[in-house]
Amino acid sequence: MDDITNLITQGKGKRLYATENPKEAVVYYRDETFAYHGLKRGRIIGKGEINNLICEYMFTMLTEKGVPNHFIRRIDNRCSLVKRVEIIPVTVKVRNIVAGSLAKRIGQPDGTHLRNTVIEYNLKDSEQDDPLVNLTHITALGLATPQEIQRMEEMSLKVNQIVGECMRDINIELIDFKLEFGRFEGEVLLADEVSPDTCRFWDAKTHEPLDIDRFRRDLGDVEEGYREILHRLTGNVLKTNDD
Ligand code: 5GP
Repeated sequence: MDDITNLITQGKGKRLYATENPKEAVVYYRDETFAYHGLKRGRIIGKGEINNLICEYMFTMLTEKGVPNHFIRRIDNRCSLVKRVEIIPVTVKVRNIVAGSLAKRIGQPDGTHLRNTVIEYNLKDSEQDDPLVNLTHITALGLATPQEIQRMEEMSLKVNQIVGECMRDINIELIDFKLEFGRFEGEVLLADEVSPDTCRFWDAKTHEPLDIDRFRRDLGDVEEGYREILHRLTGNVLKTNDD
């Protein structure tokens, strides 16, 4: 998958390659990681392999439970085949408990209870640090139609319910997460990833983060957090390799 001529795009944690089929693409999960809009960079050894397996688990479960998504199948340790969607340039964040940028914005500590689920929209524009916007901005800028936004919100709440229940069963709290969606043959599909790179997962007993926040906040044992999620989800004790 190192054929650079096939590279479509490169993100913080993944590369996307074209295939012979224009309707499909290959996602390559990387060990590289970035935080704070690229100001902090590093590597989490084995993260790519672990995220590939966690995403296979999550997308398979979401497909079975009726959330249409881009996942087709896992190809090998670090690669999966996906439908080649046109990404909608708006991300959806779903929050069950205050943490991260919301904690800063409203001046409340991480872990503060929320009476209802919070949904936020951000522009996918890293040069502007992915600014927070509302629904009228999205339609005014022509980034998505009201119908697409409604579908994205419905699907995001369903993902929250399905992944939240699945994580509760393995004693992990789903604090918040970020989703991306794409257009494919007239339908809106869940795209990108559902992994410790995009979700805050806290151990239900200790409230310790088991996700990318271990890297963002220099908490150490970053890879162990990712491994723990995979192990609790699938029973898999993976021996990972460098990429
Ligand atoms: P926050 O806005 O509090 O920083 O993040 C909310 C949720 O979205 C967290 O689960 C966080 O990991 C995820 N998230 C926020 N920004 C990014 C990003 O640029 N990339 C990825 N992969 N996830 C993000």
